[in-house]
Amino acid sequence: MTNLKAILADPVIRSFISRIEDLYGRMDQVYTDISQAHGFHCQGCEDNCCKTWFFHHTFLEYLCIMEGCYLLEAKDYEDALQRARDVIIHVNTYHKTSEAFRTMCPLNDQGKCMIYQHRPTICRLHGIHYQFSMPNGAIHQGIGCQAFEDIAKANNVESVLDRTPFYQEMAGLEKELRQRSGFNQPIKMTVAEMLDKQNKET
Ligand code: SF4
Repeated sequence: MTNLKAILADPVIRSFISRIEDLYGRMDQVYTDISQAHGFHCQGCEDNCCKTWFFHHTFLEYLCIMEGCYLLEAKDYEDALQRARDVIIHVNTYHKTSEAFRTMCPLNDQGKCMIYQHRPTICRLHGIHYQFSMPNGAIHQGIGCQAFEDIAKANNVESVLDRTPFYQEMAGLEKELRQRSGFNQPIKMTVAEMLDKQNKET
């Protein structure tokens, strides 16, 4: 893959970044509305969702995450990069053992996301009751994190975040971006792998 900084400077790509920022804003609003209806406000916990080994699958979110990384101070970027390398070593070790695998995202610095405005979809929607329609029409439902579930049980509120329109809009944006940019490679990467990959390629 070529230098993402050059790709991010392209006016066509900038228009897609604006559109995903708009989509993220609407995700955040719905998430806030539903979490508030449950009386839930994430204040951090032992079961930190930034330790979850999330894969990201779109070129658009890859661009957005890396844009957030490029906006970091040089020292912060280097520190994140070193943590990414450490995480990858940890993963390689994990694959040689049966140890249950959880590790902190390299972009979490002392409990805070270093690219909060650019964080991807799953980091925005994780933690509360959700559902989404699959392409075959089946509805997938999921529960929230433990902290959310404790509050949800006590407050007995039913509202669920429907991820379907967000996933559909993201899929549409990704399709359009790939058509217009000519990018056609599959993507399945963690944040650590994105950072490490870009460092090796630039
Ligand atoms: S990108 Fe940010 S919010 Fe998402 S897992 Fe990493 S540190 Fe946490």
